[in-house]
Amino acid sequence: MSASASPPQAPVPARRVLATLRRWVDTGSDTAEPDPAEARRIDWARALPFLGMHLACLGVLWVGVSWTAVLVAALLYAVRMFAITAFYHRYFSHRTFRTSRPVQFLFAAIGAASVQRGPLWWAAHHRNHHRHADRPEDLHSPHAHGFWRSHVGWFLTREGFRTDWARIPDLARYPELRWLDRFDTVVPLLLAVALFALGELLARVAPALGTDGWQLLVWGFFVSTVVLFHATFTINSLAHRFGRRRFPTRDDSRNNLWLALLTFGEGWHNNHHFFPGTARQGFHWWEIDPTWYGLRLMAALGLVHDLKPVPAWVLARAED
Ligand SMILES: [Zn+2]
Ligand SMILES: [Zn+2]
Repeated sequence: MSASASPPQAPVPARRVLATLRRWVDTGSDTAEPDPAEARRIDWARALPFLGMHLACLGVLWVGVSWTAVLVAALLYAVRMFAITAFYHRYFSHRTFRTSRPVQFLFAAIGAASVQRGPLWWAAHHRNHHRHADRPEDLHSPHAHGFWRSHVGWFLTREGFRTDWARIPDLARYPELRWLDRFDTVVPLLLAVALFALGELLARVAPALGTDGWQLLVWGFFVSTVVLFHATFTINSLAHRFGRRRFPTRDDSRNNLWLALLTFGEGWHNNHHFFPGTARQGFHWWEIDPTWYGLRLMAALGLVHDLKPVPAWVLARAED
């Protein structure tokens, strides 16, 4: 059929597709305020890499499995979960301890390897969450917007995509953090390439380990990152739904042991909403908080300092 005989259709929005492709690699290429009508709609073109990462996990059917691959995936889950909870959350978003500029950058980069965007975007949205928790302005409230939007939908929309610079003047003054935020695919791509190279190297020098480049790429990058995604997102979705409310906060945050184990301590979310100004989220010794133990270790090694403790008046109200 000739082009002239085609039924009339809306022109392909080529420019928008190109703009989207550009935003995949350069998030600074689009600073315009989203049109209010579009702001809450899922930007499917923008969401393709996120969906693709899930599909790539099916690669396990072709690459098989080895203990080496599972170990690398578990290790990368643990290191990156710590970077997200200790640094993206407790340091960048809440400033609950201090550190040097090199350590700040190192853990910002490890956090960026989680494919949860840069530290500035993450902290800006998280500060907005605390300010408006469980009200309509809170983009990932399961009460205001439903479970799926709180879990994955919100960050695939135009309004979820943008960084609110007004929320993070303290962080935006570091050019190296602005760079990480703008080119937020660079670190993940480097990790993927490094995993492939490591797998190929091991296949040659240690064939007994039974791994290779494709296997480490699928397990170490795709599977580990997708599990890390959904573990992190449970704090936005499930930790505002299931668990115990020790403190009568204005939001519906909950304390949940299972989520705390999965996210290295973030499941004590009602504690955290009641008093976000401490580096610790388990307020009692039995409230397991691996991120806090990791931060204590880093403080003992002199890498971080001034960890803000839980104040006595908060502990007194946490007696039960
Ligand atoms: Zn919350
Ligand atoms: Zn928080």
